[in-house]
Amino acid sequence: MIVEIVATGTELLLGQINNTNTPFLSQKLNELGFDVLYHSTVGDNKTRMTEVLSNALSRSDIIITSGGLGPTQGDITKEVTAQLLNRPLFLHEESVTHMAYLFAKRQLPMPENNLRQAMIPEGAYVIKNERGTAPGVILEHDNKIIIHLPGPPHELEWMYEHAVIPYLKTKFGLQGAIVSRVLHTYGIGESSLEEKIKDLVISQSNPTIALLARPGEIIIRLTAKGSASIEATELIDELERKIRHKIANYIWGLDNDTIEANIGKTLTEKKFTVALAESCTGGLVTSRITDISGSSDYLVGSIVCYTNRIKTDFIDVTPQILAEHGAVSQETACLMATGIRRKFAASIGIGITGIAGPTGATPTKPVGTVFIAIDGPAGIQCQHHTFNGQRTDIKYRISQAALHMLREYTLSL
Ligand code: ATP
Ligand code: MG
Repeated sequence: MIVEIVATGTELLLGQINNTNTPFLSQKLNELGFDVLYHSTVGDNKTRMTEVLSNALSRSDIIITSGGLGPTQGDITKEVTAQLLNRPLFLHEESVTHMAYLFAKRQLPMPENNLRQAMIPEGAYVIKNERGTAPGVILEHDNKIIIHLPGPPHELEWMYEHAVIPYLKTKFGLQGAIVSRVLHTYGIGESSLEEKIKDLVISQSNPTIALLARPGEIIIRLTAKGSASIEATELIDELERKIRHKIANYIWGLDNDTIEANIGKTLTEKKFTVALAESCTGGLVTSRITDISGSSDYLVGSIVCYTNRIKTDFIDVTPQILAEHGAVSQETACLMATGIRRKFAASIGIGITGIAGPTGATPTKPVGTVFIAIDGPAGIQCQHHTFNGQRTDIKYRISQAALHMLREYTLSL
């Protein structure tokens, strides 16, 4: 069963509202095992809506639209379908009664144009709207199904759950299940990653593999279809094993895992504490660590040591090192890590110094240069990276690098 979702509304095309109906329907239909293969969006314009709907009818079995069922002149979805399928509109008395009841309850007169909402294409099954006035519509036509749902998300969602799911289940039975899993990787670029799992990517069919770049990491999304979710899960388990066989070192988490939570778990388990001296990240790494509830168990505290004076006065970076190697150097980062570890009596100290840009670069230290040092029970380590991007991108990438470095350091302890 090929499903197409058509969102209607000029507001969507103007970018004035976010389309949440299409993702909602897509996700729900996928859970039921339907193949949603097309998303379309069209404004409140008869000619273009007709074009989009006839296109959808030619390539899809089930078309679900959202929006345009209201009382105003811009609400034309049912009219377009009625003309396209040659099914004249008639006044649906039950819907009129329901609307009259809603208006009476609010002690308001019902405007004449509200009757437009109760105009239903001939032969349609009407979905009563328990959350609003405009009824929904299900039309079967030449082995195709068109379902019109209202635009307001709480109305659409209610109708989907209470009328569309039961209808689809009765009509088609269970379509099987689709299960997805996300593998989080770090420390490898998208193309190198693809190269390493190329044979699996090329031979994919079920499950499918998608590599997706997210800020500061690449994720691998596996999606399997099976007759039941247990079967789909088994297919995914098997593919994950094959992928891990090739790139286990780069995978650090699954699904909704976050690096902040991952670190928190390890630090708690191993009973280590951490303190940070952050320069170019301005406290971002500390802030991310504190996104986790319970982080006070392992985060001692931090200093944003932005100027040289704070670096020397508060965490014992010597003026000689600053003069000789500069504030952005391996030597300074190491002294920051050692200094903050000692001052804050933490098991692990982290020092971060770099150039977030766009100014401040030197011939040997371009924008994006960063030194991240960790001092702890396993000794001192320092990484040197050069990141690309705008200032905020660079700061975020540095924070990713620091958190991943901390993860590896603590795992090795
Ligand atoms: P109404 O009876 O309220 O006019 P309708 O079925 O005619 O409902 P629209 O007029 O297209 O629907 O949209 C009504 C409101 O619903 C929009 O202003 C917007 O707030 C919301 N809406 C419409 N489409 C979407 C969408 N795809 N995603 C999220 N919200 C939407
Ligand atoms: Mg409307």
